[in-house]
Amino acid sequence: MKQRLLFLGPPGAGKGTQALRLAAREGLLHLSTGDLLRAEVQAGSPLGQEAEAVMARGELVSDDLVLAIVRGRLEQHGGGWLLDGFPRNLSQAEALESLLVSLNQQIEGVILLELDDSVLIQRLLARGRADDNAEVIANRLQVYREQTAPLIAHYESQGLLSRLDAGGSIEAIEERLASLLVD
Ligand code: AMP
Repeated sequence: MKQRLLFLGPPGAGKGTQALRLAAREGLLHLSTGDLLRAEVQAGSPLGQEAEAVMARGELVSDDLVLAIVRGRLEQHGGGWLLDGFPRNLSQAEALESLLVSLNQQIEGVILLELDDSVLIQRLLARGRADDNAEVIANRLQVYREQTAPLIAHYESQGLLSRLDAGGSIEAIEERLASLLVD
């Protein structure tokens, strides 16, 4: 089973849900930059205060800020990991690649969760997080298409990308995911 993975895909595709389950099953570190940023906002830390308004608009917080979070966690962790919601643009992907070189680690696979916009929007509206209202959702989907989707070709050209149909039940998606991860 692959041990160092990225989960890529639009908001609402179920990255967090699947990443949590897989990490628990395989004993991997689940690193969600969105969860970590929300915890900083909740704690009212300087980092959280800087990120809060940007997140509320559905835009990306600064690369430096996110990278500092990821670097700190990966440097302390020797085992397998699953990155969920990071990288979100090409410059984050390049920064991750240099960080991994310095840690003597490699990305072993990138899972792209694919789902139609209409289903994504339904799922996000049903979830009801603070940044899950119609206007912010539209912005997050646009940010995904403009800034994050170019990572698909980036990882495809490195032979790392696997596409996962992210429709249907949590269990059905989990089963399809497991079959993609066999070495
Ligand atoms: P998520 O939980 O992954 O949907 O992320 C929620 C929000 O956190 C995003 O809309 C961004 O504002 C911010 N965020 C999460 N991950 C990143 C990242 N890698 N780079 C920049 N902003 C991020």
